[in-house]
Amino acid sequence: MARIFPSLPDKPDHDALERELLEVWEREGTFEKLRTLNRGGPRFSFVDGPVTANKALAVHTAWGRTLKDVFQRYKALRGFEQRYQNGFDCQGLWIEVGVERELGLNSKREIEEYGLAEFARRCREKVIWSATELTKGSRRLGQWMDWGADYFTFSDTNIEYIWRFLKLMHERGFLYKGHRSTEWCPRCGTSISQHELSQAGVYQDKTDPSLFVRLPLEDRAGESLVVWTTTPWTLPANVAAAVRPDAEYGRRENGEWVAVARYPDERFVQRVEGSELVGLRYRAPFADLAPAAEVEHRVIPWDEVSLEEGSGIVHIAPGAGQEDFELGRLHDLPVLSPVDESGRFYDAYGWLHGLSTTEAADQIVGWLAEKGVLLEAGTYLHRYPHCWRCDTPLIWRVTDDWMISVDELRQPLLDANATVEWTPEYMGKRMDDWLRNMGDWNISRRRYYGLPLPIYECGSGHVTVIGSRAELEELALSGLEQLEELRRPWIDEVPIRCPACGETVRRIPEVGDVWLDAGIVPFSTLGWESPERVPQGYATGAARGLTTADLPDHAYWEEWFPADWVSEMREQIRLWFYSQLFMSVALVGRAPFRKVLGYEKMLDEQGREMHGSWGNMIDAQDAFTRMGADVIRWQCASQPSDRNMKFGFGPAHEIQRWLLTLWHSAKFLVDYASLESWQPASADLAGGPDGDLQPLDRWLLERTHGLVAEAEASYESWSSPGVVRAYESFVDDVSNWYIRRSRRRFWDGDETAFRVLWYALVQGLRVVSPLMPFLTDHLWRVLTAPVDAAAESVHLSGWPEVPAIDSALLDEVAELRRVVELGRQARSSAGVKLRQPLRALVVAGAPLAEGHAGEIAEELRVKDVTFGDVEASELRVKPNLRVLGPKLGAELSKVRAALESGAFEELAGGSFRAAGHELRPDEVLVERQGKEGWSVAASDGLTVALDLHLDDELEREGRVYELVHAVNTMRKEAGLELSDRIGLTIPERDADLLEHEEWIARETLAVSVEAAGAELRFEQR
Ligand SMILES: [Zn+2]
Ligand SMILES: [Zn+2]
Repeated sequence: MARIFPSLPDKPDHDALERELLEVWEREGTFEKLRTLNRGGPRFSFVDGPVTANKALAVHTAWGRTLKDVFQRYKALRGFEQRYQNGFDCQGLWIEVGVERELGLNSKREIEEYGLAEFARRCREKVIWSATELTKGSRRLGQWMDWGADYFTFSDTNIEYIWRFLKLMHERGFLYKGHRSTEWCPRCGTSISQHELSQAGVYQDKTDPSLFVRLPLEDRAGESLVVWTTTPWTLPANVAAAVRPDAEYGRRENGEWVAVARYPDERFVQRVEGSELVGLRYRAPFADLAPAAEVEHRVIPWDEVSLEEGSGIVHIAPGAGQEDFELGRLHDLPVLSPVDESGRFYDAYGWLHGLSTTEAADQIVGWLAEKGVLLEAGTYLHRYPHCWRCDTPLIWRVTDDWMISVDELRQPLLDANATVEWTPEYMGKRMDDWLRNMGDWNISRRRYYGLPLPIYECGSGHVTVIGSRAELEELALSGLEQLEELRRPWIDEVPIRCPACGETVRRIPEVGDVWLDAGIVPFSTLGWESPERVPQGYATGAARGLTTADLPDHAYWEEWFPADWVSEMREQIRLWFYSQLFMSVALVGRAPFRKVLGYEKMLDEQGREMHGSWGNMIDAQDAFTRMGADVIRWQCASQPSDRNMKFGFGPAHEIQRWLLTLWHSAKFLVDYASLESWQPASADLAGGPDGDLQPLDRWLLERTHGLVAEAEASYESWSSPGVVRAYESFVDDVSNWYIRRSRRRFWDGDETAFRVLWYALVQGLRVVSPLMPFLTDHLWRVLTAPVDAAAESVHLSGWPEVPAIDSALLDEVAELRRVVELGRQARSSAGVKLRQPLRALVVAGAPLAEGHAGEIAEELRVKDVTFGDVEASELRVKPNLRVLGPKLGAELSKVRAALESGAFEELAGGSFRAAGHELRPDEVLVERQGKEGWSVAASDGLTVALDLHLDDELEREGRVYELVHAVNTMRKEAGLELSDRIGLTIPERDADLLEHEEWIARETLAVSVEAAGAELRFEQR
């Protein structure tokens, strides 16, 4: 007999199957065909957030890549024309610090000695390596992108777009050089901006010294102020001490002043309001070091002084703290900057010179003790910011940074954000909060491998911002011939003529914040204001030879901007989502995206962060081999995006097991269809089977249509978990209801059953193909092999068109299945095997299932099913705390007591009344004890009672079922085909079962049954 369907093994080898499909897709050009198919369709504009190109694919990027691919594939099934451009982020500290480590460099001086040109080339090589790896990994994951036509943010094209933006900011008066206190990484030697601090891992627990230091008052002999600090290195920069003017301060017997609120149990010899201390002069701890010697140290007022910790008097060092700096401005305090770019004390600080802030701490403690001004030295554990890139604890320095003012943009930014639909919603609120509270954008970094800020400041203070390469060439005085890329060091060798005074000016040495690189993407990759399409226009500068991406023209930008949808992790609210929004509002006055899907973090199975050093990191290659890409994707897709994901081999194993249900359903169809030479018809693909349908067939068709509708609603609301839930329950219905209830029909070659099952399976595959592109395509290809008209790949098959659903039928069967489920529970809690037939079942509270008594009887193997009241000897009702707690609040205890004491009334439909409250079925947990000899199970208002009494007839039938099971197990073990016939001999002692000879013969495909000897045996006939 010729096979119509290719055969399926007992279980899928995900890794092998997926690698094979990757080749098939490549060979057949499936992705290209899909794009051709959708060309001219409605547009769905997706813009990819660039991934930092400094690593190979890590498993935690799988979540984001899966979501992007899922929704792009869904939109493709719906016929949308789309953009599939992947992006790589190629500049900034991520890249630099990685290369520094590889080269063994550990300071800016060492980078400069190594040579900036060579350093830049090494950085570029790192990016190329990473881009290759990331591409390989993403393809293996099944992500369909226009690989090879990626955008690289280090291309000159991208850089010129940012230049243009900065020039516009300058023209509008938003760009300025700020003199301020900023978080600073002493290892990287650069300031860190506010939004960079919002990245994961920046705030870590850190133990610091906790010092209480006495500052003797100059004008009052024997009296002193007590201040508290956790950063001893800032004491040499002290210029003032702040008190809260309206708080009470007390003087101890020994002359020390502290806030009374901090020491409520102490006795004070004098009490005054803080305002009375203001203006007093004190002697600073390091007054004898040159920088502090000139300063008059005074007490100042500050409403923000905390009475929650410390002494209630705060030491103020405007050169080493942000709030201090602002306060210093207000009171016109001198600013002492104690440490240089690398966090080491300047020479002016005498014996401290050259020490780092941490090295200095110990020395300072010793010195204070020696001077007799150290009251108390302990340790203090707090959350402290660290460099997001190199993990060094940050310090505060006063520097000149280039800033973009947000004042005038804040409201337009808020307005633009209000037009964006955020999923989950709270992320939009977070963006809103951020926009309300953020400060000016610090765009300059004192580093090397980054966007060269095109700012030229001449000796007379004229600031020129260059907006393009053409402008640079026009003003350049020399150096153009060596300009390899718009990048340090080459760009620094191109001085210009100041257009205002003619002076020769060099570029400022700073590079740009990397978020400028990514934020410009909706303009630079879509061709905003580009007069014409430039073939391979993105392969410029460092990106030469790396991509085939064109620079489109402005008409294209008009078509594709703003993005319909973007998706990245929550952290990106203050990073990419923010920088895009900022640049877009500044350039064109509106948001660059309409909808956002954000997601939380991927953790390990136990819920811990994944870290290389903790040994809980999952290698992507390992995951592909052991789980398979489909299973990784399914794990990601089932995760609600508003919660952290616990990812691992455990959950993967569960998914693999569940997938076997789908696999076996398909295999069941294939095996039986081949046996019966049944062939699917192409017409069924579109309209579904018609003709002589049984109720169960009609139900599965409705169920299939319901799946399509449910999945569609979930996709449209960006909920992949909704699609997962719908499909998992669908597969359960197919396998554990339709197939189970129809086995006999397949056995008998019932054409309709084949058609219905086939239709359900292939439509289901189309629906979940975006989530699980490999397995679904494999099964599609197997199941549609005999159908010439079927698309060659599920991904080219489009979205199923289905009629409106008849929900009455679906509700009926859903209730029927609940009855069966409860019946099984009642059996298993009584310890009665399903193979043992029973006499009777009583069902209460399932009116929809009443027409299905026969099916219930068959499923639960009972002779008689009746609908009516269940008599139970005891009924116990408990509150469902999860639901009732929030609803009832304080009333809960009354209700609980009433239920406990049995003071409740049972209402129709599974509700109860207790203590004056009506409790719905889902608000209570009901336990029923059956009458003697009955087993009862109940849930949500539905109750079943199973008669456990056995008579001889029932017992004998139970033994027949056991026998049939044993024979069929032996058949399987002996390797018999489904259609092979046997001659069966049952043991002499079971001779009484011959009463059911026909039944036994039918179920075991026996041509004869006889009783002889002591053993069960058979021979093939
Ligand atoms: Zn750093
Ligand atoms: Zn000038």
